[in-house]
Amino acid sequence: MLSGPQNSSAKADLAANHLAANLLRLRERIAAAASRAGRDVDSVTLLAVSKGQSVASLQAAQALGLAAFGENYVEEALPKIHALQGNAAAWHFIGRPQGNKTRDLATHFDWVHGIDRARIAGRLAEQRPAEVTPLNVCIQVNVAGEASKGGATPAEVPALLDALAVLPRLRLRGLMCMLPFGLEEGAQRAGFARLRLLLESANMRGHALDTLSMGMSGDLEAAVLEGATLLRIGTALFGPRG
Ligand SMILES: *Cc1c(COP(=O)(O)O)cnc(C)c1O
Repeated sequence: MLSGPQNSSAKADLAANHLAANLLRLRERIAAAASRAGRDVDSVTLLAVSKGQSVASLQAAQALGLAAFGENYVEEALPKIHALQGNAAAWHFIGRPQGNKTRDLATHFDWVHGIDRARIAGRLAEQRPAEVTPLNVCIQVNVAGEASKGGATPAEVPALLDALAVLPRLRLRGLMCMLPFGLEEGAQRAGFARLRLLLESANMRGHALDTLSMGMSGDLEAAVLEGATLLRIGTALFGPRG
């Protein structure tokens, strides 16, 4: 069996080439969707969802200019955050925050997307260190009404937004959703449009939300068409999760 530094660096080169090719294809998809939507492609931020990926893959992604990473599990994320320390990456927590993990989130992350309870947001506000910038937060909304999924119901969103807006050390940025897999584009667009309308009506009531965190590898086109500002992309970038 081949082994040794030569083989492993050849492997790393190959992986980096795959990543570069995937990124190119992904940027083409985003650009095509933005053009279909009549939107400036720079109005869409790409969040590299790095759950299940190695530190080496994250470093390769950084070398290609990706600056923001999304993780679902605190225990998996902390060593990666530590390994990339000093590299100015932004860390987004995109899982469902558990009560016993809020201190790690408040200390080590820049964004938390999956908030659906005021109590969790209160703990994050309490535990966010005073010497760093406020923690950016999004409320997750269960737009499809799936029984098994996390997220606030659309009806709960206005009160939740009002509760979060007054918390110190948090910066309320917007709304996040995740659609069921395998929907057709029309149904994807209807789901994402629902999130956009919730954000627009919140802003009409006086909030200043600027983030629609929606769209993954399989539905990013529909998300861009409905106004996504932040796409959370894993497999289309890194390939299948290891
Ligand atoms: C895993 C995950 C993603 C990325 O999904 P892909 O289909 O791999 O692009 C996005 N958002 C959340 C919340 C996830 O858990």
